Amino acid sequence: MGELLTVMAEENPFESLQSQLDAAAAHLDIGDDELTRLKHPQRILELNLSVELDDDSIGSFRAFRSQFNDDRGPYKGGIRYHPGVSRDEVKALSGWMTYKTAIVDIPLGGAKGGIVIDPAEYSEAELERITRSYAVELRPIIGEDQDIPAPDVNTGQREMNWIKDTYETLENVTEPGVITGKDLDSGGSEGRVEATGRSVVLAAREAFDYLGKDLEGATVAVQGYGNAGWISAKLIDEMGATVVAVSDSSGGIYREAGLDPATIKDVKRDQGSVVEYTAVDEMITNEELLTLDVDLLIPAALENAIDAEIATEVSADVISEAANGPLTPGADEVLEDEDVLVIPDILANAGGVTVSYFEWVQNRQRFYWSEERVNEELEAIIVEAFDDMIEAYEENDTANLRTAAYVVAMQRVINSYSEGGNWP
Ligand code: NAD
Repeated sequence: MGELLTVMAEENPFESLQSQLDAAAAHLDIGDDELTRLKHPQRILELNLSVELDDDSIGSFRAFRSQFNDDRGPYKGGIRYHPGVSRDEVKALSGWMTYKTAIVDIPLGGAKGGIVIDPAEYSEAELERITRSYAVELRPIIGEDQDIPAPDVNTGQREMNWIKDTYETLENVTEPGVITGKDLDSGGSEGRVEATGRSVVLAAREAFDYLGKDLEGATVAVQGYGNAGWISAKLIDEMGATVVAVSDSSGGIYREAGLDPATIKDVKRDQGSVVEYTAVDEMITNEELLTLDVDLLIPAALENAIDAEIATEVSADVISEAANGPLTPGADEVLEDEDVLVIPDILANAGGVTVSYFEWVQNRQRFYWSEERVNEELEAIIVEAFDDMIEAYEENDTANLRTAAYVVAMQRVINSYSEGGNWP
């Protein structure tokens, strides 16, 4: 569960998604109407929640759930609490989920939800009432075979447990698979908390291997030090790389000899920000972090962190996208020209949804796996998806890995739709 994030550049993420899909469609045999279908959500729920606050007044909160595509399985995607949540942001995130589940080839579709709220301004009791009110509205359209929510920015196990409890109480069922990202005692999976960072670094390892570069001793900068960022830093450090810079919304720190990720995590937990850690060479801004001369850059904050202008200054050789949509389409073009290898979000951060899928499988079987098994199965899926992406990259000569990943993912969605046919 993270803190409030600041919204970065003003690019509309739904337009970014559309241009990513257009770029991939140019390599596919697909008609205009079919493409329109693949570019828009199938259904959007838009809500105005009225919830009693602690001072007895009634708070009003806009909320959304976008169900983008269920051709390959039930809708799947997180729930974000943030003042910057909008209909277009939720639509974009639900589309990215659709192609994320497809590139890693797990039998799920794509969805996303969000509430326009700064959770830091509300008490825990208020947040529980707001979350349960949202869950009541979601109830008719979610379910383990319909739509399975999960955590995203500013939500975590606590909110998932409330949603599960509300749903199960109203439906009079025990159905832990209605939601993922739960606490272990509520039916969560081993390895889920670390899963996103794990895929970010596994994908980076594969990319280094592809380029013939050594990860051992490589330098790394991580933007954003929440769940995705800090776990990525911890695991890449364990693989022998050196994390030289990290940041959060208050700024960044740089130390040439390397930072210890766990120490920084403790400082952030106890004092609120990574910038409170002072045994560093330099305090740096987020922009300086993004343009450091490092081997690997991991953007792990929010969308639009790197636009075309910042991209011209990026000096990293490889970028592994922990955040969803951290690069604008303009940034992609610049980085292509400069031969920076960008591992797209839909693959790099797919560990979260992949282990959510494992959680759902375990919930349905009422049979739970060891952490070792979770991590092994995750690694196999990420490595296979990476290989599928590289094959499409080389066969289609796509401009970048993102377009290659979308070619594979869109083809998989097209295949299941055409096999099922259209009714009515
Ligand atoms: P989080 O709330 O735990 O952490 C976000 C971090 O980003 C915080 O440290 C915050 O200070 C920092 N941040 C905010 N604005 C910033 C700015 N302008 N500059 C630098 N840092 C900034 O969130 P999270 O769960 O780690 O998610 C981060 C990103 O990863 C999001 O894009 C999310 O959609 C994506 N993601 C997360 C998961 C997951 O399982 N947690 C899975 C897939 C994708």
